[in-house]
Amino acid sequence: MSKTVLITGASRGIGSEAAVLFGNNGYNVAVNYNHNRVMAEKTAQTINSNGGTAKIFKADVSNYHQVEQMISDIAVALGDIHVLINNAGISQQLLFTDITPDMWQTMISTNLTSVYNCCHCVLPQMIRRHSGRIINVSSMWGEAGGSCEVHYSAAKAGIIGLTKALAKEVAPSGITVNCVSPGVIMTDMMSGFSQETLNELTEETPVGRLGTPLDVAQAMLYLAHDKSSFITGQVLGVNGGIL
Ligand code: NAP
Repeated sequence: MSKTVLITGASRGIGSEAAVLFGNNGYNVAVNYNHNRVMAEKTAQTINSNGGTAKIFKADVSNYHQVEQMISDIAVALGDIHVLINNAGISQQLLFTDITPDMWQTMISTNLTSVYNCCHCVLPQMIRRHSGRIINVSSMWGEAGGSCEVHYSAAKAGIIGLTKALAKEVAPSGITVNCVSPGVIMTDMMSGFSQETLNELTEETPVGRLGTPLDVAQAMLYLAHDKSSFITGQVLGVNGGIL
């Protein structure tokens, strides 16, 4: 029987690449999106045309009720979720003194509360089955702290704390909870950075290049594997050695 993976924010970037990789590796894929239905459909079509099974599910993951509805729709369409990848996220660069209360709330609810929402709605079925994999997406800025990204760094550091605590709590139920912590990965999220900044970041990265969505997706696939059952509560840096 094929396993089902739910990947949040799979319409673009890292999530879309991970969806295709998991689809090519025999998983049924629930492709979550929020605004970009056309891109989500494209991701699902790629998987289906490669001989896999993918369906798209709209939900704003910062909204608990939308997540609850999505999880019950996935149960009908694809059955139990075996692997949950909390990938959806937003970023924003500005001075701490310019972060308004609304911006703070949006950053925390989209990047951190979303992880609570999805874990809380999916865990009961994993606990019942006594197996599951949860993979959260933090960031090197959640580990190191990024200037002009205080709210983003705080949310991503929160994901690391959530991961470590939840890993301990659900380990006796046969569930692992880990983080991947990407460095600089070339997606839309980096589109606001100038070529000069990207060149500087490349120079600062010991392997001498920036990351690709596939670099991160491969790490997710590794953590999702049955044979990764002794790895839990960990933060796996995918950053070319920059940290
Ligand atoms: P991206 O290309 O900007 O894609 C972001 C994805 O998140 C989109 O699919 C978007 O869906 C989805 N999303 C945003 N808000 C959402 C919401 N409220 N509900 C559901 N989906 C939502 O970003 P990316 O670079 O692939 O980033 C993926 C993850 O990696 C994020 O958590 C990010 O913080 C993390 N990360 C990225 C980097 C990097 O350098 N790129 C580095 C470290 C960590 P729609 O377009 O459909 O709205």
